[in-house]
Amino acid sequence: MKQTGDLNLVKKINKSIVLHHIRTDSPISRARIAEITGLTKATVSSLVNELIESSLVDEIGAGESSGGRKPMMLLFNGTAGYAIGVDLGVHDILAVLTDLTGKVISEKRVQHDNASVEAVIQLLRTTIRELIDSAPQSTYGIIGIGIGVPGICDDDGNLLFAPNLSWENVPLQKDIEETFHIPVVIDNEANAGAVGEKQFGAGKDTANLVYISIGIGIGAGIIIKGELYRGATGFSGEIGHISIQHDGPKCRCGSLGCWELYASEHALLEQARLELGEPAQLDKLLSKAEAGDEKVIALFERLGYYLGVGVVNIINGYNPEFIILGGRLAGAEKWLMKPLLQLLEKRSLPLPRKRLNVEFSQLSDRSTVLGAASFAVSKFFASTTVSIDGN
Ligand SMILES: [Zn+2]
Repeated sequence: MKQTGDLNLVKKINKSIVLHHIRTDSPISRARIAEITGLTKATVSSLVNELIESSLVDEIGAGESSGGRKPMMLLFNGTAGYAIGVDLGVHDILAVLTDLTGKVISEKRVQHDNASVEAVIQLLRTTIRELIDSAPQSTYGIIGIGIGVPGICDDDGNLLFAPNLSWENVPLQKDIEETFHIPVVIDNEANAGAVGEKQFGAGKDTANLVYISIGIGIGAGIIIKGELYRGATGFSGEIGHISIQHDGPKCRCGSLGCWELYASEHALLEQARLELGEPAQLDKLLSKAEAGDEKVIALFERLGYYLGVGVVNIINGYNPEFIILGGRLAGAEKWLMKPLLQLLEKRSLPLPRKRLNVEFSQLSDRSTVLGAASFAVSKFFASTTVSIDGN
């Protein structure tokens, strides 16, 4: 390797490696970190001292010893700062305040009617402001805001296109950063959901998973070998627009017969309107199904069948270990799961189906907010472990 002589940089990198192990493996001893990283015990000790001074690491009582003096154990101090995660939905905003380990401290949910872009963004600002005000005192305060959006965004945090909100080219990151002067990360809600599931949910022990967010539309976050797959230009996962009927009805994306025309919440409500003859809402349909209304149960079961049709394509195309279904329709698991699994059994290829798990999210509708908050935390550590006391 080329020697650049930049010892400062090497030290910063080593410090973030040490912190990474304390974050993921704590409680852990200095000796164990030295063993894992190959750094000398003296180097580890000096870096750990700096991390303790910067409040990111605490020392707790003695751990198990393999002989000799018992080592002091190190813990990551998750309350040195707080992050905000937001799921900007088509009808509502769900936002949480988490500590640096992803533990939810407080939560806000508000409805919106998408009257205008500005009105929704104003509501978003108010919601974020309330969570900021509710944060406990801490060394670093609010370290970042992550926002999952129902659409496609670019690297600069512009929401380029959100079909179900009818928004185009909204400079959301810039707007929220200018309001709060806190770093903001914007990403697709299904990408955030996939990361939420990988870090905190059903996907913790899985390297290859697809998270499918079934809401007003359908999107997917794809994790390959532990990393979020974004595609060549960042637009992967628009899986609601795979065509499952080549000459089907026209979709607002311009294509025909897209999966989300059959298997999304929007599709369910449309079917309910046609068959029950009244405008319907998801929560009302859920309570009718719960009360045993057979017509409504049949609607959910048909939706489960259509979900299966798309999931078969994902299984055959990607061979994931785990498919996690989340989003607003996860609440209908009871009626969706059986027809979905029956269809997979009949129509997916046996080899990629072998050893595949299909589950509904255990995080209920928090996959996206937790993933979004975790984007903010990652950005903080990527930019700051290196600058905290970085001499
Ligand atoms: Zn489409």
